[in-house]
Amino acid sequence: MLIDSFGRTIDYLRLAVTDKCNLRCRYCMPEEGIDFSKNEDLLSLSEIARLAEVFGVLGINKVRLTGGEPFMRKDILQVLEVLSLHFKNINLTTNATLIQPYMHQLKQYNISSFNISIDSLHREKFFAITKRDQFETVYNTIWELYNMGFRVKLNVVVMKGINETEIAEFCLLAKNHKVDVRFIEAMPFNAHDGNESQFLSLTEIEEHIINTFPSLQKVDSPRKSSSIKYSIDGFVGNIGIIPAYSRSLCGMCNRIRLTPEGQLLTCLYADQGINLRDLIRDGFTNEQLIAAIKGEVMQKAKDGFVAESNRVSDSSVFQSMTTIGG
Ligand code: SAM
Ligand code: SF4
Repeated sequence: MLIDSFGRTIDYLRLAVTDKCNLRCRYCMPEEGIDFSKNEDLLSLSEIARLAEVFGVLGINKVRLTGGEPFMRKDILQVLEVLSLHFKNINLTTNATLIQPYMHQLKQYNISSFNISIDSLHREKFFAITKRDQFETVYNTIWELYNMGFRVKLNVVVMKGINETEIAEFCLLAKNHKVDVRFIEAMPFNAHDGNESQFLSLTEIEEHIINTFPSLQKVDSPRKSSSIKYSIDGFVGNIGIIPAYSRSLCGMCNRIRLTPEGQLLTCLYADQGINLRDLIRDGFTNEQLIAAIKGEVMQKAKDGFVAESNRVSDSSVFQSMTTIGG
């Protein structure tokens, strides 16, 4: 078992399998992209298999594949296959633009849910936000996955003056469909201006929803959830808000993260952590890896504010989320 110095059990691994992405969401990375990792620096399939074994032994029972865009990896099905050997609860966060060729194979793996990013329900605005004309593919893929029986959650980063006017329209998707529509506070991670001018807080997002749907009501969320859950009278799906910047849910955190190059980060706001890829390439045994991971987890900060204050890199410009996985 992995337990941190505050007695929290860590049983959820977020694995960013690549930093590459075919979209350029304005809150995530600059249009020209970032300095992407070389392929040989990414965790290889065999290194992922090795880490899956080790994290399985350590009691991780939920894994989320993220990125960058996970489906940018040509070996994504093999990644899913090796993870399925060790984990029953595999989840994906994806922009849903590249899933179509794999649709018929997805049921073979232990995929519990798809979190799909969609920040506008209008083609032109979607294009303005992502710099790519992919709205229809994303929208259609969402409902195809839903109709295949997958649990689907929609991730909407709320940006002042850009898509805040669509909050009610997004909520309506949960009226007749059992989907979770989750609004995310914009975090400073965009390798640029930190999204400051577009930031809308949890309270402001809540107010927007209540203006249209006065019956909005908090419902119990799982203790370790990263979102605050709500219901609206007559809706079959749920609404959620992820206080990613306010960080009000850190106390129950059960997560650790692996970057595409294998760095173990114990908080989204952390910038230091051992590199497990390097340890594997240096010949560490599973027992040595386990000891190293346990040691790192003991360093996990109490919350995102402490992790942010411990940062050693220039804190005025945060990395793009594509290198951290969200
Ligand atoms: N490419 C996939 C996607 O977009 O779903 C997975 C990676 S993306 C980095 C993971 C999540 O982080 C997405 O839901 C995205 O909207 C969110 N995200 C990225 N940058 C963000 C930021 N600066 N603030 C808040 N959320 C952000
Ligand atoms: Fe790509 Fe996801 Fe970042 Fe958008 S949020 S640029 S889809 S990694």
